[in-house]
Amino acid sequence: MARQKQTKQDQTIFQHFAPSLAEDWPRLPVTHAEGLYLYTEDGRKIMDFISGIAVTNVGHNHPKVVAAARAQMEKLVHNPVGIVFSEPVLQLSEALPNVMPGGLDMFFFGNSGAEAVEGSLKMARYVTERPVVIAFKGSFHGRSYGAASVTSVKSKYRKQYEPFVPGVYFAEYPYSYRCPLGDSDEIVTAWSLDSINEIFRHYADPSQVAAILVEPVQGEGGYIVPPADFLPELREICDAHGILLLLDEVQTGFGRTGEMFAAKVFDVQPDILAAAKGIANGFPLGVTAARSELMSRWLAGSHGTTFGGSPISCAAALAVQEVIREENLLENARMMGKVLLEGFRTLQKKYDRIGDVRGLGLMVAMELIIPGSEKTPDGKAAAQVLEGCLERGMLGYMAGHDGQVVRLMPPLNITRAQAEQALEILDASLEAVK
Ligand code: PMP
Repeated sequence: MARQKQTKQDQTIFQHFAPSLAEDWPRLPVTHAEGLYLYTEDGRKIMDFISGIAVTNVGHNHPKVVAAARAQMEKLVHNPVGIVFSEPVLQLSEALPNVMPGGLDMFFFGNSGAEAVEGSLKMARYVTERPVVIAFKGSFHGRSYGAASVTSVKSKYRKQYEPFVPGVYFAEYPYSYRCPLGDSDEIVTAWSLDSINEIFRHYADPSQVAAILVEPVQGEGGYIVPPADFLPELREICDAHGILLLLDEVQTGFGRTGEMFAAKVFDVQPDILAAAKGIANGFPLGVTAARSELMSRWLAGSHGTTFGGSPISCAAALAVQEVIREENLLENARMMGKVLLEGFRTLQKKYDRIGDVRGLGLMVAMELIIPGSEKTPDGKAAAQVLEGCLERGMLGYMAGHDGQVVRLMPPLNITRAQAEQALEILDASLEAVK
C-alpha cells in the first residue's frame, strides 16, 4: 500500500524517510492522542486498537505516566548506567522483581525490544559458553542482527541480509491451525517438540545449545496461542540438557495477556526474559531479566549501552506499574479479551473467510482465508478489512506470514462499549469485502 496519496505529508515522507520503515500502512498524520483515541491533522478521531503496536497499554498519555515522566525530566534527563545511577532506574530495579516471573531479580536495561533480545542472546552464549540458539518458525524478535537472525516470520525480513549470526536453528511453533498432523493439543505439542528433537539428532547436540528462545504467544506470527502444556514441556527439555529457556515477552508483557507476564498464564519459569513495549507506555525502554546467580556471571564490560534505562523512561515505567494495579487492569484485560474473542467467534459463524479465531487476554486475532480453499491465506482480504475499519474510525493491524491475520491489541483499560463498537466496525468491514 505505497505511493497512492500524494498529500504534502506523503511528499515529505517519500522524500526524507527510509522506505524500509516509513512505507507502511496507513501513515496517519496524528497531532495528539488521549486514552484510546488518536486525533489526526484532518480532524479524525480514531480508536487505536493496536496501542502503538502493543505499547500504550494504559492508554495514550495516561496523566499519571506523563506526570511522572515530566517531573523526572525537570530533575535529570540522562544517566549512562554504570557511570551515573538515577533514582528511577534504581527504584525500577527494586520494583520489577515483584511483577516478574519468580526469581528474576537482575536486569540489563536497554531501549527497545530488539535490544532486550540482543542482550538475552549475548548473555545466554556468554554464561553457558555454548554457541547454539533454537528459535521457532514464524518468530519475530527484532531487526538488529542478532534479533533478526532468530526471526523467521517472513523471508522479506531476511532477504539480502545473509549471512546472519551463525548457530541458529528453527523448530516448528505449535501453530494448531496449520499443523499438518492434526489440531488436537497433544498432536500439536508433539509436532513442535519432535522438531526440536530433530534438531538435536541431526544438527546440534543438546550440549551445544545455549538457549531455546520462544514467544509465549507468537505476536507478528499471527497471535498464535500454544497449547497449555507446550511451554512446561519446553521447560523440561531445557532442564534435561542444561539449556536456558529464554522467553521473549516484548509483546506479551506488562498485562497484555491478562497477567503481568504470559509466563504466569502458562505456569512456566524462564531463565531469561526479554521485555519492552508496554513497560513504559511509549517511553523507550527494554529489559533483559534473569536470576542473579545466572546474570552475575555476565562480567563487567562484556555488554553495555549509553542510553539504556533512561531516568524518564524508568519513572514512566514505575507509574505504569501503579496504574495497572490501581485501575485493576489485568482483570479488565481478561474480561474485555473475552468480549472480543467471543465477538470474533460470532463473526466467524457469519463469514466463511474467517478460517480461525484465537487470542489470549487483549491479543485477539482472526486469520482470513480464501473461502472454500484449503486454508489459503488471504492477505488481500485482511488489508481490505483493515482499510474498512480505518474508514469507520478504528485502527487495527495485520500479522502472519502473508499478512492474513487481522489483530487487535487495544489498551488494557478499554470499556465494554468500546469493545462492542470495535466488533460492529469489524462486522461492517468484513461485510464490505468483495
Ligand atoms: N520481540 C517481539 C515479540 C516483538 O513483537 C517485537 C516488536 N514487534 C520485538 C521483539 C522487537 O521490538 P522493537 O521493535 O522494540 O525492537
